[in-house]
Amino acid sequence: MSVETTLILFKPDAVEKNLVGEVLGRYQAEGFIIRGMKMMMLTPELLAEHYAHITDRPFYPRLIQFMTSAPVIALALEGDNVITRVRDLLGATDSPTADEGTIRREFGINSMFNICHASDSVEAATVELKRFFREEEVFSFNSHDYLK
Ligand code: ADP
Repeated sequence: MSVETTLILFKPDAVEKNLVGEVLGRYQAEGFIIRGMKMMMLTPELLAEHYAHITDRPFYPRLIQFMTSAPVIALALEGDNVITRVRDLLGATDSPTADEGTIRREFGINSMFNICHASDSVEAATVELKRFFREEEVFSFNSHDYLK
């Protein structure tokens, strides 16, 4: 068992299409625990860091326009192998070609409007959680016995 925390962003398309509850429900149904959650407007500067690996791609200016077009919701989600499992639940980047039953296949439109970002490795998750959350915004707590 490997308990990890991943960074998820509900992108502007998920927020604008009222899909946050539906998609979050899929994560919670897996037993993952919300450790942090907040709505925020992203800046081109922060996105340049976050998308440093694709700044030279032709779609980058449109991606920045999209990601700053409405607020996103950032989520710190904990669970056993959560990084890989959330990426599996999401599906491939290009929504129409993602596997049947994945979040992107069901709700995404194309390669850009694809509902959520999710960290792709332990190293990325560590950096990305720090990028979007201050230390005191990620909570550790145990369930109380009376709730069990
Ligand atoms: P992922 O989000 O699946 O890890 P990438 O890191 O390759 O994928 O890309 C980051 C984001 O950039 C994607 O989620 C998507 O919003 C956008 N993107 C990637 N490839 C394309 C493309 N060919 N055309 C338009 N947007 C793209």
